[in-house]
Parts: sequence; structure tokens; C-alpha cells
Amino acid sequence: MATHTTRMLIIGSGPAGLSAAIYGARAGMEPIVVQGLQPGGQLTITTDVENYPGFREVIQGPWLMQEMQAQAEHVGTRMMWDTIVDIDIAGGSPFKAIGDSGDEYVGDVLVIATGAQAKWLGVEGEQALSGKGVSACATCDGFFYRGKKVAVIGGGNTAVEEALYLTNHSDDVTLIHRRDELRSEKILQDRLFSNPKISTLWNKAVTRFVAGENGTLNHLELTDTVTGETSTLEVDGAFVAIGHAPSTELFKGKLPMDESGYLLVEPGTPKTSVLGVFACGDVMDHTYRQAITAAGTGCMAALDAERFLAHRDFEKAKASA
Ligand SMILES: Cc1cc2nc3c(=O)[nH]c(=O)nc-3n(C[C@H](O)[C@H](O)[C@H](O)COP(=O)(O)OP(=O)(O)OC[C@H]3O[C@@H](n4cnc5c(N)ncnc54)[C@H](O)[C@@H]3O)c2cc1C
Repeated sequence: MATHTTRMLIIGSGPAGLSAAIYGARAGMEPIVVQGLQPGGQLTITTDVENYPGFREVIQGPWLMQEMQAQAEHVGTRMMWDTIVDIDIAGGSPFKAIGDSGDEYVGDVLVIATGAQAKWLGVEGEQALSGKGVSACATCDGFFYRGKKVAVIGGGNTAVEEALYLTNHSDDVTLIHRRDELRSEKILQDRLFSNPKISTLWNKAVTRFVAGENGTLNHLELTDTVTGETSTLEVDGAFVAIGHAPSTELFKGKLPMDESGYLLVEPGTPKTSVLGVFACGDVMDHTYRQAITAAGTGCMAALDAERFLAHRDFEKAKASA
């Protein structure tokens, strides 16, 4: 068991954590990034990325994250193959975290970039066809279904927003919900029901995603939740929109969160309620959830971390003069 100390301890190696690391390293904070169980974060489970600025051609999610990590290491970041299992925040700076390996990580500032995971239905074909017709992000993948027939599965705000967004690309959007009414806000429902490109299928649960001969999604198998009758729906793309779960188990009772478990920050900043603890990316953002916004807030966390340390060091020096 070893102890690793740094000016800047970053938990998470997605776009938020690695962007914080790039800025932190270039500001001389010699960051440590603890990578967690999904090194590179959510983009490593997708294929085509077409909306990350700087690349005219379609790039691959795993490749983008390898490049981000290489850049972070190039400027002086230490990457750790470990997962944080416990952390002491109440004691204040320096913050001490324990890894699954038994190693201890000590950071003058703490940047939390543990992201979120899309919730999936957990039915046959869903994971096998992920990226081949099945997606959990219309903003990310809707563009690939221009002029095609798509379905959105869910009944909350996310599902309705995804369905409305998809009408920018498709004239044939079906919203499938397992109940006979939506949970989403009334104003969103009004927009949905008045949109001629969207139809609804009530009381239907998707029980299987089925591929065609070309290996991409061909149709959905549905079961009526009231009568038990089965049916199929041919679609080119299906968007599972039943919510996201932020990875914040570790911080329960230690940092303020909203009712869905997202970390709360001072509006417009990555500052949590604890001095020296910053949160960035999907772990504090249930609205935008994009690689570019995660990278942006990662940059903000590093800039605020540097200012926090500079101010603290100045005050310490003044006090001891
Ligand atoms: C299938 C799919 C396709 C997508 N396509 C696009 C796209 O085309 N364009 C786009 O902009 N966005 C896309 N997104 C969204 C984008 O991936 C996310 O918004 C972005 O990855 C969020 O970055 P993040 O750094 O906040 O968190 P994440 O990418 O979720 O990374 C979280 C990191 O935290 C680590 N971690 C978690 N817990 C711990 C712990 N206890 N200890 C240590 N580490 C921990 C994980 O291992 C991981 O490295 C897509 C998402 C998915 C799921």
C-alpha cells in the first residue's frame, strides 16, 4: 500500500477529469487522475462522434479519449489504475481518498469528475445493438438517423425532449411508453402532442431489440402492459430515454446533492459547498450531458482549483511572515 500525494486529486478519467488534468498540469499542480472502472469514461462505449469540435471527419469515441489521456500525460498528469472506494471530505484540505487497491491518495484540492451512466432497459439485444441502432443520446446520435424512422422509449421529461429533438432529423418519431400517460411537464407534453411528426404507443414495453441481416437494428418487439399482447415495430433507430444515474454513491452524506443524486454546485461554477472541492462534467450536469460541456466544466474546475490554492498559499505565507 502506497500513499500518493498531489496538489490536485482528480477522480474520473472522462472528458471532464482529463480536461481538468490538462489545465491543472499546465498550471503546475501535477495532478493525479484516478481512472475508475471505465477509463476514458462514457465515450469509450460509443463509436462515431461527430460533434466534438476540431474534427471535420467522424471520429471514434475511444480514440478521442486515448488522445485526451495522452495529452494529459504529456503535460505531466499521473494516471492511476484504481477506483476510489472511500473519501474524507469533512476533514477539509488536504483530502484523503482510499483506492480499491488499498493505496491512499492525498490532494490539496479535489476534483470530482465521476460522470453518470445512462439507464438501460436491460432487455435482449439492447447492449449488442448499442451503437448499431440503439442509443441513449439523441443529441449525440440523432443526426445519424436523418430521414429515417426512429423510436424513443420512456415517459419522462428526457424522453419527450429526445422525441422533440429527433424531429429535427426525422419525420417519423414514435414515443413508446409503458403507461397510458406521461410523467413529463405539461408544457413539454403540449409540444409533443401538437407535433405532427411524433406518434405515441401507450402501454407498451420493449421486450427485445432485433437486428436485421446487416447486423443493425431492424425492429422492436413489444408487449402490451395491459393485455399482454405482443407486436413488433420496424425502426432504424431506438433511443432509450429512461434517465441517467450520476456516480455519486461515494459522496452520499458528504456533499449536497439534488433528489436525483447530482452534486450541487454554486450556479455557473464548479464549486461545491466545501472549500477546495470542485465537481465537473455529467456528475453535476443533468441538462447538457455532452463531452464538450464536460470538458468545459473540467477546465473551469482546474482554473478555480488553481485560484483556490494560490489564494490559500498567499494567506499562509502572509500569516507566517
Ligand atoms: C453511448 C454514448 C454516446 C455518446 N455520444 C456522445 C457524442 O457523440 N458526443 C458528445 O458530446 N457526448 C456523447 N455522449 C455523452 C458523453 O459521453 C458524456 O457527456 C461525457 O462522457 C461526460 O464526461 P464526464 O467526464 O463527466 O464523465 P464520464 O465520461 O461518465 O466519466 C466518468 C469517469 O469517472 C470514473 N469514475 C466513476 N466512479 C469512480 C470512482 N469511484 N473512482 C474513480 N473513478 C471513477 C469512470 O471510470 C470514468 O472514467 C455519449 C454518451 C454515451 C453513453
